[in-house]
Amino acid sequence: MANDLFNSFMTGPDEKGRFGEFGGRFVSETLMPLILDLQAEYEKAKTDETFWAEMGDLWEHYVGRPSPLYHAERLTEELGGAKIYMKRDELNHTGAHKINNVLGQIILARRMGKKRIIAETGAGQHGVATATVCAKFGLKCVVYMGAHDVERQAPNVFRMRLLGAEIVPVTSGRGTLKDAMNDALRDWVTNVRDTFYCIGTVAGPHPYPAMVRDFQSIIGKEVRTQMEKAEGRLPDTLIAAIGGGSNAMGLFYPFLDEKEVNIIGVEAGGKGVNAKMEHCASLTGGRPGVLHGNRTYLLQDDDGQILEGFSISAGLDYPGIGPEHAWLHDIGRAKYVSITDVEALAAFQKCCELEGIIPALEPSHALAHVMKIAPTLPKDHLLVMNMCGRGDKDIFTVAKALGFEMGEFA
Ligand SMILES: *Cc1c(COP(=O)(O)O)cnc(C)c1O
Repeated sequence: MANDLFNSFMTGPDEKGRFGEFGGRFVSETLMPLILDLQAEYEKAKTDETFWAEMGDLWEHYVGRPSPLYHAERLTEELGGAKIYMKRDELNHTGAHKINNVLGQIILARRMGKKRIIAETGAGQHGVATATVCAKFGLKCVVYMGAHDVERQAPNVFRMRLLGAEIVPVTSGRGTLKDAMNDALRDWVTNVRDTFYCIGTVAGPHPYPAMVRDFQSIIGKEVRTQMEKAEGRLPDTLIAAIGGGSNAMGLFYPFLDEKEVNIIGVEAGGKGVNAKMEHCASLTGGRPGVLHGNRTYLLQDDDGQILEGFSISAGLDYPGIGPEHAWLHDIGRAKYVSITDVEALAAFQKCCELEGIIPALEPSHALAHVMKIAPTLPKDHLLVMNMCGRGDKDIFTVAKALGFEMGEFA
């Protein structure tokens, strides 16, 4: 294990932004000065108490943190094994964990004097969070979104418009998230002086994966304190869904050096991790390559062409995974599994019926894995799953998958 003297899992990345052989900074010469500027500003902010005081104040009064750690009593009873807790990040303003990170990056942008914020979005959740914080601070917001996604995600497109953002439909490539990220990077190079690129997950060139992880780590830090209060000890197992991997990294990171804590990431298995690649499981079904400025596991064909991926959950269909996860996977510190659409849908329904919580389809994948393993674990086993988003955005997808027609709702 390439690690430091203290054998800690929390010291990465190295000065080149690498987690083992993953991560790094694969960008054009023209982007380098921008990236170095950002890195310098972030290094300063990291140890600056006024930065964290501002974050803490907004987390509390604007986002609604800390989010509760909730004992899911009926689900625990039904499964008959491990004691199940949910970290309720779906209660955050804008309905998911994304805003934890967006606030951090926008405060940095303000410190750097940048007045124009650009972002990429797939399902639209990161775009909505970015448009929200830009509205709050009176910043111009431009969101790149694949043309195909603009059509599929009409409610989020309208939300962003209401919040004052400009949406740029991307028609290059296949018009999805990957292409939107490429166009956002191109915009950044062209508008060097006034623009800040706000990335929505633990991907992109260094320092983004580490910076986004640090902002999302508020999730895991709160869980440590809350579990200590509830049970007087650390949890035994942590479970989170993975698109790019930011909510998972946020939960996992503060526990990486607690060797007795099991860590499990859940990828989207779509129709099954098969040869036809009808899934989004970059780790369990992909191989290493370079995308969006970093080296990581990717969904690709034999010629190295990036594949689209498939999942019932729009927020999980990113063709890569954050480089730190790739590293944690290779060194064996975290385990990665996949869950199919059918399994996620069943978990979604159980959660509604037993807990009165309509989860997003993304954390429904994490919950489906909880349902698989909880019955095999003893009653004193403390299991925490990250409920990283609420399901309002997904009800139409779920209705369709369950075979309901609009008229039948009444
Ligand atoms: C965006 C999103 C995800 C996927 O992103 P990560 O970076 O993997 O966390 C998962 N769940 C929800 C609710 C999301 O909005």
